[in-house]
Amino acid sequence: MKFNEALKDIKSYEAGKPIELVVREFGIKAQEVVKLASNENPKGCSPQVAKIIADNAHKAFLYPDDSMYELKSALASKFLVESENIIIGAGSDQVLEFISRALLTANDSVLMSQVTFAMYEIYAKQMGAKIIRTASYEHKADEFIEAYHEHKPKIIYLCTPNNPTGDATSKVDILKIIEAVDKETLVVVDGAYMEYASAKDEAYSIKPNDLLTYSNVIYLGTFSKAYGLGGMRVGYGIADSRLIAELSKVRPPFNITTLSLAAAIEACKDEGFVKESIDLFTQEIVRYEAFAKEYGFDYIESYTNFITYLFNDNMNSTKIADALLKEGVIIRNLASYQMNAIRITIGTKEQNDRLFKVLRKVLI
Ligand SMILES: *Cc1c(COP(=O)(O)O)cnc(C)c1O
Repeated sequence: MKFNEALKDIKSYEAGKPIELVVREFGIKAQEVVKLASNENPKGCSPQVAKIIADNAHKAFLYPDDSMYELKSALASKFLVESENIIIGAGSDQVLEFISRALLTANDSVLMSQVTFAMYEIYAKQMGAKIIRTASYEHKADEFIEAYHEHKPKIIYLCTPNNPTGDATSKVDILKIIEAVDKETLVVVDGAYMEYASAKDEAYSIKPNDLLTYSNVIYLGTFSKAYGLGGMRVGYGIADSRLIAELSKVRPPFNITTLSLAAAIEACKDEGFVKESIDLFTQEIVRYEAFAKEYGFDYIESYTNFITYLFNDNMNSTKIADALLKEGVIIRNLASYQMNAIRITIGTKEQNDRLFKVLRKVLI
């Protein structure tokens, strides 16, 4: 069978290793496995949300409200925009897919930073588009503007805070890039971890509302990270209503489940949970920074719910990640990004205690 030529050059997304795999391969009990690999919220989700999911279980037979009226209203008041500015996806991942399908052809190119969210490349390549990357893993405005002028990409992806590195780009620099491009190029501002950046430093906080004056910019957000709902698959895009109308043409009907919809609506009512999650992170991240200093290696200052450890030449991220896995601790090795680094989601106090204990053993 002959498949679409565009697929030739695509490497499937490598998801964080599941707990079940460690149980199977290393015979460790499931409750002893610590998974700090996929930036999930270690607090779980809001108890209020868990209750709503249970309470709505009997509605599983019903198709969801395809207009997503209530969720869009909740997001519209949260972000001070209109419902017509919002599109909902099965995770913001699906919104990225809509963007790719609505805009890209095989004649187009897309621009992103050297090390960034893997799905930008995968969705763009599905449409046959060419991938262009800046030289740095950080989002440097000058590098983006220069590459924009050279390649005239159809889409520019700005991931702030950036995954998998954890650094962020200031609002000033994001606006500088947006101002430099013409309206034929779509700028995607992916704020999957924005709740963490906003809590840390106002200069790095970008609100969808700040960007709505630009008809060629879309802001992406998700319930998967700070809201602790990765398993429910709900994300959103916020942009000019004309852009949203075009993206809606490639959205399949009922793309969010009835339970996911109920969960996301309830999550919007419990911002206290998000604050508690950020507070836990703020308390715990300092231990990770101190650990790196103690062992004399570097880390990237985090604006997210994870930290990236940059190892010295005498350390090997693949060996360290494998050794941690054998002990039942799952983290993300960044060797596939050509970085001698690991990414660790900041867990609960107990999970972090365990990680440090095992990492000390591995680093000897
Ligand atoms: C997690 C993540 C997303 C999307 O997650 P969904 O679960 O699909 O909403 C998007 N961008 C980045 C940078 C992420 O880390």
